[in-house]
Amino acid sequence: MSKIVIVGGGIGGLAAALSVARRGHHAVVLEQADRFAEIGAGIQLAPNGIHALERLGLGDGIRDRAVHMDELRFMDGVTGRYVAGMPLGESYVQRFGNPYVVVHRADLHTLLLDACLASDAIELHSGKVATGYEQDGRQATVLLADGGRFTGDAVIGADGIRSAVRRRLVGDGDPRISGITVYRAIVPMERVPEELRWNSVAWWAGPKCHLVHYPIAGGTYLNLAASHDNGAREALAGVPVTGERVMDVFSALGEDARRLMRLGDDWRSWVLVDRDPVEYWTDGRVTLLGDAAHPMLHYVAQGACQGLEDAVVLGDLLDCGPDEIPQRLEKYNAARRDRTARIQLLARRSIELWHPVGEAAERRNALLASYAPSELHDVVAWMHGNTDFGASAPTSFEGVARPRPEVFRPQ
Ligand SMILES: Cc1cc2nc3c(=O)[nH]c(=O)nc-3n(C[C@H](O)[C@H](O)[C@H](O)COP(=O)(O)OP(=O)(O)OC[C@H]3O[C@@H](n4cnc5c(N)ncnc54)[C@H](O)[C@@H]3O)c2cc1C
Repeated sequence: MSKIVIVGGGIGGLAAALSVARRGHHAVVLEQADRFAEIGAGIQLAPNGIHALERLGLGDGIRDRAVHMDELRFMDGVTGRYVAGMPLGESYVQRFGNPYVVVHRADLHTLLLDACLASDAIELHSGKVATGYEQDGRQATVLLADGGRFTGDAVIGADGIRSAVRRRLVGDGDPRISGITVYRAIVPMERVPEELRWNSVAWWAGPKCHLVHYPIAGGTYLNLAASHDNGAREALAGVPVTGERVMDVFSALGEDARRLMRLGDDWRSWVLVDRDPVEYWTDGRVTLLGDAAHPMLHYVAQGACQGLEDAVVLGDLLDCGPDEIPQRLEKYNAARRDRTARIQLLARRSIELWHPVGEAAERRNALLASYAPSELHDVVAWMHGNTDFGASAPTSFEGVARPRPEVFRPQ
């Protein structure tokens, strides 16, 4: 049995703790906040994310708490016209082995937290701010802001996009500011007009902006997130903004989308950030996981799913004694880097789908409408239908051809 110290008690860190504990290791989770909790509203989970939760013993738990979606629905946000829809019913579930669901973030986090609390092999410590790490070949130590130290056989940095572990390990500075501001609110479903209460994830695409919404909390609330490509240069998080301001920003959207947005009365805004993919996020007995390793824009709804996949692959590979840990962490990195890099870059490029203007938007609509449902399933199969999470990819950097240059070239 090894002792694995995990920095960060978000979705990724807790999933990692469960995964290594299932391999017989002792996990110590260090969280900077005063308590283990998740803020924010809804989160979409594609079948690959549910499959990862299943591997952690939480498949039924998540399916019970989640709202199963019927469709990914693409609307022209200006004309209000239905453009295309990817059905998520029987043929999708059969093909990918699990449903596409939405869940309240707190519900997902609580599911993971309760499983951690129920495990004798997992220790949870709140109020522990990591500032870096050191290692000597036999052990690795997390250094804390209060002067404390936690030593183990391995350290996993699951401390999010501004990871202190990454700062030391990769050293690539602050995240990239995307120039896009997202405004979020939740609305009680009883206030939503009957004809707009869709059991779908719906996008209303407009010029340099779009609105996405879906039901959460068992269908009692509608989660709204509206993006505006406004060239923002400063990374803001959770800044309150008035409904009038939001309506002003999204004046290009048509009446149906705006009817929904008018219902929001507690809007907050974030300027989105991400990072370029990197090949290496492992250093001896220290590695990264989730947003610390491969933070991405939320436009393909895969950040948490990829953190859950990381946790499963890492746990599987840590089926070893302490001496072998450095090689296994390298294998984990090699197994996960191409898949996560591809999704990071896809999330950036997806803006080209949501935000075209004028004739380009017409061409986009015609293209999307030309796909048959099964063809839309083909498009997402590599992402939603994957069940080995890269484990069959090269498992070592030894003798592996360099990664495709376009995947790792800074954008
Ligand atoms: C608007 C938006 C919508 C999204 N929608 C989806 C979606 O639909 N589906 C999906 O799969 N993903 C989605 N994501 C992405 C998803 O939220 C993230 O990928 C996921 O939460 C990352 O989890 P994590 O545990 O890696 O990092 P985090 O959630 O950032 O957790 C990191 C944890 O580490 C702690 N921490 C940080 N620094 C330190 C330190 N120095 N010492 C100790 N602890 C520390 C933090 O307090 C936090 O608890 C979305 C993201 C955004 C912004």
